[in-house]
Amino acid sequence: MTSQDAARTLFHAVTGTSPAGIWSAPGRVNLIGEHTDYNEGFVLPFAIPQRTYAAAGPRADRRIRVTSTFTAEAVEVAIDDLDRLFPTASGAVPAVTEWAAYPLGVAWALLAHAPDAGALPGLDIALSSGVPVGAGLSSSAAIEGATASAINDLWSLGLDAVTLAQVGRRAENEAVGAPTGIMDQMASMLGQPDAALFLDCRSLVSRPVPLGFTDSGLELLVIDTRVMHAHSTGGYRERRESCERGAAILGVPALRDVQVDDLDRAAGLMDDVTFRRVRHIVTENQRVLDTVDALAARGPRAIGELLTASHASMRDDFEISAPELDVAVDAALSAGALGARMTGGGFGGSAIALIDHDRSEQVAESVRAAFAASGFDAPHLFTVAPSAGPRRDA
Ligand code: ADP
Ligand code: MG
Repeated sequence: MTSQDAARTLFHAVTGTSPAGIWSAPGRVNLIGEHTDYNEGFVLPFAIPQRTYAAAGPRADRRIRVTSTFTAEAVEVAIDDLDRLFPTASGAVPAVTEWAAYPLGVAWALLAHAPDAGALPGLDIALSSGVPVGAGLSSSAAIEGATASAINDLWSLGLDAVTLAQVGRRAENEAVGAPTGIMDQMASMLGQPDAALFLDCRSLVSRPVPLGFTDSGLELLVIDTRVMHAHSTGGYRERRESCERGAAILGVPALRDVQVDDLDRAAGLMDDVTFRRVRHIVTENQRVLDTVDALAARGPRAIGELLTASHASMRDDFEISAPELDVAVDAALSAGALGARMTGGGFGGSAIALIDHDRSEQVAESVRAAFAASGFDAPHLFTVAPSAGPRRDA
């Protein structure tokens, strides 16, 4: 069954009726620019074909019920209780189970955009994810985007894609309590076939950047290590705090304001760990800019080394890689990938490899063999092409 059919079937099972519509939003891969978003820097992600579907319809009462193929649990709250449930204090356990805080947090964040919140109908929302969850491909932005698109229509809010991305981020930060940046939501909401999204996370100005992989005989392989991560916990928050500390020591609003040439001076001002966190962000921002330039001037074959340098920086300086991700990257490179890196927030999830279409079987074999030799569970391998943003499917 497709994810769209699964959402429709679940809606029917829960409500006994058909949904008013089905909305969907994609996951994403990040080509380059990791952890730069909350440092107000640059990113270059693209939306992937895998999508999360929300089958939804209005209710006569003022209650919102969310269900997901992810779990047997249905969670129902009154619209008037949303303000009491959210926001959770940072780091606090959400008042509803974590998964339900994503869609209900979106509803809560949308209330602020409703001219007359007292007149809004209740909602039934049934979710099904075609994006692997916790794989670094942003199932979180996909569930937020699908839910936000559904509610935007059912509540007749008329909000644009950037506002809906900000709503998704607010839900993730304040309702779920995951201190993530804006990249994932923007990548999902502004996705386009054939292009990546070059985004300045300070101004939120973005533009599509054609990749031309197919014309150059290339493809992007995703290696899902199946090592799950959750960004609402631990390491992600710590990295964010290190970046804030570094910016404070350097007297700048955000690490976006530090240039590669400033790093020598920075090294003497802070402890080694903070400095290495800073160096990752500063060099990564530069690599994003260099990647955009290289794509325009020399085409996609020229970006491989930048991708690989990004991985080394995340592994050694930012320390967010995992043994499975390093094995995936090394195996892909030794089988002839032009470049490879982990993608997403880290501590597990997926790696990407830019490969010649002709060598795709060899690279896949090399990765599978390296995982087996290391005693890791078999990875999940598939290619992705840039894809469309949110839409109403039915
Ligand atoms: P990623 O975004 O890389 O997949 P996150 O930790 O950011 O990983 O988000 C994953 C979390 O999002 C899941 O643990 C779950 O709480 C929630 N989630 C995502 N998709 C769904 C879904 N279809 N149904 C219920 N919860 C979902
Ligand atoms: Mg996520």
